[in-house]
Amino acid sequence: MQGSSSISSSSVDALMPRCHCGVRSPIRTAWKCDYPGRRFYGCSGYETTRKCSFFQWYDPEPPARYSDVIRRFLETNEGIISENTELKKTRQELLDELRRLQQSVHETRAKLEATVAASMAMEDNMLASVATTRKRGVVIIVLISVIVLLVFFPIKVAS
Ligand SMILES: [Zn+2]
Repeated sequence: MQGSSSISSSSVDALMPRCHCGVRSPIRTAWKCDYPGRRFYGCSGYETTRKCSFFQWYDPEPPARYSDVIRRFLETNEGIISENTELKKTRQELLDELRRLQQSVHETRAKLEATVAASMAMEDNMLASVATTRKRGVVIIVLISVIVLLVFFPIKVAS
């Protein structure tokens, strides 16, 4: 009946019964029973090597309803604990997902920056190429003009 229990802070007094060991039994609180929190007298050597089974309730037996209410509280508490565990798990999953997404964004940004740099280099090359082509065009037009002028207006060598 005792289950897990704790010794209450009340000091030893003359009303305390003596256990089988002959010493005054302190008041303890039982938690793992039909009425969690119900106090009892137990041997001061309980949970030690001393084998003393002395047990006597300190609190009177509560009404049956008390047991039902306590059971419901315990069930609700278990529900909350398991819900909390689920929430922690979900939170961890979300954090993992967030970390993956951040990594992905980081990689995509690096790729994008490399692509932009390559594109800018290509544009520079194209502009340089266009400038060169324009210069050549001007030279060709000048040469053609000179040839045409020479054909139609040949220089007459003074004789
Ligand atoms: Zn004892």
